[in-house]
This record gives sequence, structure tokens and C-alpha cells, in this order.
Amino acid sequence: EEKGEKFTFQTEVNKLMNIIINSLYSKKEIFLRELVSNASDALDKIRFLALTNADLLGEGEQSNLDIHIKIDKANNVLHITDKGIGMTKEELVKNLGTIAQSGTKEFIKKVSDSAESSNLIGQFGVGFYSLFLVADSVVVTSKSNDDDQYVWTSDSQSSYTIAKDPKGNTLGRGTRISLHIKDDSKEFLDQQVIKQLVKKYSQFINFPIYLYVSEEVEVPKEEQEQPISDEKDTEEETTTTEEGEEETAQEPVEEEKKTKTVYKWEELNDSKPLWMKAAKDVSKEEYTEFFRSLSKTQDTPITYSHFKTEGDTEFRSILYIPENPPSNMFDLDAAGSGLKLFVRRVFITDNLKELVPNWLRFLVGVIDSDDLPLNVSREMLQQNKILEAIKKKVIGKFISMVKELSEEEDKTKYHDFFKKFGSSLKLGAIEDQANKKRLTKYLLFPSSKEELTSFADYVGRMKEGQDQIYFITGKSKDSVEASPLIEQAIKRGYEVLFMVDPIDEYLVPQLDKFDDKFKFTNLARSGVKFNEDKEEEDQRKQTAEEFKPLISYLKKTLSDKLEKVVVSKVLADSPSILVSNSWGVTANQERIMKAQAH
Ligand code: ADP
Ligand code: MG
Repeated sequence: EEKGEKFTFQTEVNKLMNIIINSLYSKKEIFLRELVSNASDALDKIRFLALTNADLLGEGEQSNLDIHIKIDKANNVLHITDKGIGMTKEELVKNLGTIAQSGTKEFIKKVSDSAESSNLIGQFGVGFYSLFLVADSVVVTSKSNDDDQYVWTSDSQSSYTIAKDPKGNTLGRGTRISLHIKDDSKEFLDQQVIKQLVKKYSQFINFPIYLYVSEEVEVPKEEQEQPISDEKDTEEETTTTEEGEEETAQEPVEEEKKTKTVYKWEELNDSKPLWMKAAKDVSKEEYTEFFRSLSKTQDTPITYSHFKTEGDTEFRSILYIPENPPSNMFDLDAAGSGLKLFVRRVFITDNLKELVPNWLRFLVGVIDSDDLPLNVSREMLQQNKILEAIKKKVIGKFISMVKELSEEEDKTKYHDFFKKFGSSLKLGAIEDQANKKRLTKYLLFPSSKEELTSFADYVGRMKEGQDQIYFITGKSKDSVEASPLIEQAIKRGYEVLFMVDPIDEYLVPQLDKFDDKFKFTNLARSGVKFNEDKEEEDQRKQTAEEFKPLISYLKKTLSDKLEKVVVSKVLADSPSILVSNSWGVTANQERIMKAQAH
């Protein structure tokens, strides 16, 4: 018997297998989600390539892009077969024997000795090797358009073999994963269990998933009568009479139902994409489940919007604001966003940076365009006008979602959202000139009167005659609250906004007058003028006169450290303070610049 070539797994693969086995033994069932998702990815790939070369799909049955699951109870084997892109011999070695992505390698390093690995691993696609949670050996049979059919086998976690399939190119194109199920995992050979798992984890796969099921069916009358001989019929009648049931026999005898076991392929999922349905036909639970399948989390989105645009750009979309920001939200080198791009139902890419601006990278969802050409290339996408139009509409949609959230009766929901994504909104207000004004409306800040307030609410509480929005920048709410710089404003009854998020320093210079009326005034700068009445003015002038000698002394002795020394209009109770002039860097800016230099 041909044994094939023997290979050993890359050490990272062993490590990953160990992490998976040790941290996910209680969630063994996820192996099916991973294998079905790989099958779906492989189908996406061949469908994408076929856009420019339809011949790649093959003919007849082979061109039906689908997934088949079959249980072989007698041999304890579960088969998952797809008509996807398949793997060449070389790809089998590379994809199933090594870990190529540096991100995954990094991840393995981080968690291999960590007790928290099961938490971390939950947020990470665990992939192919999760099959070892339920299988003690696996046979992968794969046929790519670019090679003959090969068989990859592994029955240990240290090595595998590869051989050309002696049976020939039986698959046409695609991959079959055959799992020999461990004794302690026999439940995965039960068709009901498989059905439930597909429903639970794979209901939004956009290719049909079939399971080979057995079913007890009633044998139709016509079929029943034909094979039964007359003789036998008579015998049965006699038996009844012999048992002495003559009396009841006069009533219509209830016929004994004949059943037989039939086998058939049953479709388990509804492969019509959710976004193609009318919003009224989709339940809240379905939207949540769809979000979970996209985000690979068990989170519940803060809000979502399912819409279809018409006119110059036509696309359908479901957009979600996730429960939690992604961990790489501000890593601008990270690939793409949480958005998947489809063109007329065909998956194109999930790492297109141009789909949303940087500040909206946290959005999760799908966009399915009717206008983009099917044979899009990456280069084309990067400078496509249609894409620009899509981006514009997505931003607009996002802002309306934010508006709705902010208008909800229960303010805590918007506050929660803002605590998680407020920095992104501010980044939007800084970077996106076209939407600056709209976004500014939804910004919140802590203040001397409120836990969080918008500019509009601040204006609503303004004192008679107040014509400016007072704020102070700084390191934390506590530190600015205690700052002598706000004393005068507070004493005069003015509310002060506390701009203590590091990004606020970049936001402030971008702010125009709010509502075209109200100037923003930074109390951390000199030259702040409150409207003094005559009495106050006289008082200050008199003080200035009294303190002339001290001021000239300070100017002289500290001339290399200070630009000027004045009698303050800002302080109420504190004796003195250092401030920045109205155009230089503030102390807080200096603090941030220092932090960034490290
Ligand atoms: P990921 O799906 O995140 O890339 P996996 O561990 O799930 O990681 O799979 C590793 C690789 O093996 C995939 O990237 C793919 O190249 C290959 N692969 C796995 N299953 C299949 C399949 N059914 N058809 C084609 N290629 C596959
Ligand atoms: Mg995978």
C-alpha cells in the first residue's frame, strides 16, 4: 500500500493544537463551524475567480457551489465535502502544515503559556486544527484545478502524510474532510446534533449546506400491495381470524402502517442572504445572530440599520455598531474593517480599507453593490467612484444611527455608546471636513454641571447674556475640576466643559463657532475676558496698581521663564497661576506631545 510522503508539523502548529485542545475541550462542537466556514471560504474563492473565467467552475453538478455533510455511523466517520477551490499538493503542505499569518504566530506566542487562553481564543478563528477536539485522525482529500487529487492524512498531532489519490480525480474539484470521530465524541455522528449545530453556527453561510439524512417514511399503498403475494395476504387474514377477533373484524380494520428507511440530502440552511430580505421579514434575533457570525463574537450589537439605496448608487447593506470596539481600532495598518463587500451576492473582499474612513473602522456589516463591475480588481476598487459614493452613504447612515441613539429616551444607552466610540466620532469631526458640523452635534463632554453633555444641551443651560462656551483641557476630570483656571467662570455661574480625552487637544482647534453663534473659549489660555461690570473693572484696575512693584520684581527675576506677568481676570480664590498664551502650546498639549515622543 502506498504510504505517501511523511511530513512533520511546524512547531507553531503543535503549539496551536495544544492551545486549542487545552482551552476548548468544553466547546468541542465549534469544530463544525470552523470546517464549514473553511468550505464556504473555498467556495467564495472559486466563485470569485470564476467571475473572470467561468470555465473554472466546471460543468454540471460540479458547478453547483455547495457543501455536503455525510455521517458514516458504521465506521465512525464524518465527511464534509465542498466544491470550492481545492488545494494543490503544495497548498496542502503550506495551508495545513504551517501557520503563515504573522498575526496568528504572534497570538500563539502570547497565549501558549497563559491561563486566559480560552478567553483570548474565543475571539479568534481557531480554524482547521479544531477538528482534533473531536477526531483522532483525519483524511483531507483535495482537488484543485491546478493539480491532481491528493490525500493528506494525519493521525497524530506531530506528523502527516501526503499521497496522490490512487482512486484518481474523483472529486472533480473541491475538498473533502473526513474525520474519524473519537470515542468520547460520538454525539457528532448523530444527524440531529449535526442539524442543530449547523443551525446554531452556520445559518448565514451563503451556500447550501446539505446533510445526508435517513428518515422513516410510510410506504405508499400502491407500493405496499405490489410486492406482497396473494398467498401471504390470505395467511394474514387467517391469523386475525384465528385470534378470535371476529366481532371487531367487522369494523374497518386499522391497517398496520408499513414504513421504510429512506436516505436523502436535506438542505439545512437558508442560503438566501439576510440582506436580500425585506427588513420586516427579519427578526431582531436574526439580526443579532447575523452580527455574531460576522463579528465572530457572542456580543449583541448596540444598534443596526438594514437599508437599500436607490438612485445614483444602488446597494443593499446591513450595518452594525458593535457592542465593543475591535482591539485594533486605532491600528491603521491593520487590514480592512468589519465590513464585507459583495457585488451582486458574490463575496469580493473583507479587507478593503477604502470602504469606510479610518474613524469608522469599527463598523461591522455587509455591503452588496449592484453597480460595481463583477470583475473588479483591487486596483480598480481603490480608485472607484462608485466606492466613493458608497462610502458617503455609509457615513450618512452611520450618522443617522447615532442621531437615533442620541434621541432615545433612556440616555444611558447613548452615553454607553459614546464612552466606547466617542473618540472615533471626534476623529471623524477632525478628519472629515464635510461631516464635521453634523458630527460635532453628537459629541459629549463631562462638565462642571453634568456627567456628560452635548454642546446643544450646554447652550440650553447658558446664563442670560452668556455668549461663549467655556471649556478647559487637561489630563483628567479630577485635575481640571480642581484647577484654579476655572474659578472665575464657576464663580460667575458659567458651566465649564472638561475636555480631558487626549484627542480633544486636536479637536479644539478644529471647532468653529457652535451653531454659528457660540465661540469656544479655553480657560487654560490667557486673555480670557469675562464681561465685567463697572465695579469689577475698577476693582481689578486698583489691584493692578497695588501689585505693580511685585509684578515688575517677578518679571525681572523670572524673565527667562515667563513671557509676561499680569493681574489675573481668571482666578477667584487662588493666589497665582501659570497659563499658556493664546497661541502657544498648552500644558496639556505639552504632556501629550511628551507621551507621544516615547
Ligand atoms: P483560516 O481559515 O483562518 O485561514 P484555517 O486553519 O481554518 O485558517 O485554515 C487554514 C487554511 O487551510 C485556509 O486558509 C485555507 O487555505 C486552507 N483550507 C482549509 N480548509 C479548506 C477547504 N475546505 N478548501 C480549501 N482550502 C482549505
Ligand atoms: Mg478557517
